[in-house]
Amino acid sequence: MINILQNCIGCGACVSACPFGALSLDNGKAVVSNACTLCGACVSLCPVKALAMPQKQNSLNDLSSYRGVWVFAEVIGENGAVKNRPVSLELLTKGRELANELGEKLCAVIIGADNSSLYAELSAYGTDIIYSVENPAYADYNTAAYANAVITLIKKYKPSIVLYPSTFLGRDLAPRIAAEIHTGLTADCTALSIKNGNLVQTRPAFGGNIMADIL
Ligand code: SF4
Ligand code: SF4
Repeated sequence: MINILQNCIGCGACVSACPFGALSLDNGKAVVSNACTLCGACVSLCPVKALAMPQKQNSLNDLSSYRGVWVFAEVIGENGAVKNRPVSLELLTKGRELANELGEKLCAVIIGADNSSLYAELSAYGTDIIYSVENPAYADYNTAAYANAVITLIKKYKPSIVLYPSTFLGRDLAPRIAAEIHTGLTADCTALSIKNGNLVQTRPAFGGNIMADIL
């Protein structure tokens, strides 16, 4: 949860700004509830700098505890319904191969207002576990809110690999998450494989003149 410092003057500016309704006033001071997703939207609005994100921790100290291949399952609205983007299903197929090679589980991460209609198809593509984050506030994509939801899941469940579709959303989301959890990120991969337990990410380099393998 966001930290509220002693110098809060109870102006209330943060209360209406929180998209998750996590802030309220109590006895002239702001208070935060469990609904806080650490989206960070309120921090810059406080006139006396009384809101602070929790201290970042290096979550990669013990890599041996990180297991599981995750796919961020992006969705698309079509004829009033929400569907899995085809690229999400393609990534699950590749993720299944990688997970089999590593002997780890394949997991899908899905964020939205109501995800239940999407589970069957994700399972049909070989997903072992679905991490579903649901809230009406997630109906439309929001970089900070979506990133914080994924970061929270990564810190809690510790995957070894996370794959994102190379869509506008994926390109916006993945760098923010990678920076926050202090890990690497390779864009524009054309092939993925496992070598000696490491993920080999193949992508064009030097203007496309060579293909580089990044571990
Ligand atoms: Fe609300 Fe985001 Fe601030 Fe948490 S960090 S209190 S969710 S605006
Ligand atoms: Fe307190 Fe800052 Fe929120 Fe105003 S904006 S209520 S000073 S935390």
